[in-house]
Amino acid sequence: MSSLPRARWWSVRRASNRKPATYRCPFCGRPLPALSEHVLIAPEGDTRRRRHAHLECVLAARRRGELVLEEEWRARNRPPSLWSRLRRRGRAREGATRADQ
Ligand SMILES: [Zn+2]
Repeated sequence: MSSLPRARWWSVRRASNRKPATYRCPFCGRPLPALSEHVLIAPEGDTRRRRHAHLECVLAARRRGELVLEEEWRARNRPPSLWSRLRRRGRAREGATRADQ
């Protein structure tokens, strides 16, 4: 079970660490050497609460749908998308053309 705080979305970026520290992955609880390739995740972009995690654990969490990225969350919560506004406008124009005939 993961020890992640609740967050609507996460920022995820590749970690570039020069410090020989060891972190604990919040997904699997196993140690994570800072010099190994891994990623930094931050709840809703809050870097003060960022966590170091194994890349494979992040990918697995993504597959389980547990780690929503900011752009995914924004896409889901955006009020009428540009696409649907354009479609509406297109329908209105079709109606106007028919009325002209
Ligand atoms: Zn892990």
